[in-house]
Amino acid sequence: MVYSGDSNYKAGSNTGAKNVAVYPGSFDPITFGHIDILKRSLNIFDKVIIAVACNRKKGYLFGQKERVKLITDTIESMGEIESDRVEVVALSGLLVKFVESINARVIIRGLRAVSDFEYELQLATTNRTLNPDIETIFMMTAEKYSFLSSTIVREISRLGGDVSTMVPLLISKELQKLYSKGDRDETLM
Ligand code: ADP
Repeated sequence: MVYSGDSNYKAGSNTGAKNVAVYPGSFDPITFGHIDILKRSLNIFDKVIIAVACNRKKGYLFGQKERVKLITDTIESMGEIESDRVEVVALSGLLVKFVESINARVIIRGLRAVSDFEYELQLATTNRTLNPDIETIFMMTAEKYSFLSSTIVREISRLGGDVSTMVPLLISKELQKLYSKGDRDETLM
């Protein structure tokens, strides 16, 4: 697996293969739901490139470089995923430009409930308008992860709850570290 926290990193110089998919997202932090989609993608594609986004409007808990590193370390520490078939890169600029630059044709997105659909449709349609040769493929998550999101994980951790069934151990430890100082005076729901 190639790790790069460098936003100018040109992925794909070593991908070459046609059977490459790009899985973009915030991954703030990566959850078992993301990992489920990654594993499903690896059943179909030779290589999956996780493209970690940085949207200025979103206030991320973990910085982009941090998220790249956390995903890389998580995949390695889990030992269930062939890490040489996964690349984690920091995305800068337009997703379709990145996909074009590595000669890939497929974007992977995960679908949980119907509530994801409208946003995902908008995103996929926009990307198709920008490049009609790039296809977005949707994968349905395992039922047990269908209500799992990074937002929920961040909220539960912030309030001192246990997220060990939602995220890999490395991530829950990282969240614990981050929130150990407190900030748990608000209630969730
Ligand atoms: P974004 O900000 O791009 O939506 P996310 O990290 O929230 O980034 O999600 C990245 C992709 O992973 C999206 O397609 C999202 O639907 C999918 N995803 C997130 N959580 C899950 C989950 N629990 N099961 C399946 N897919 C998921």
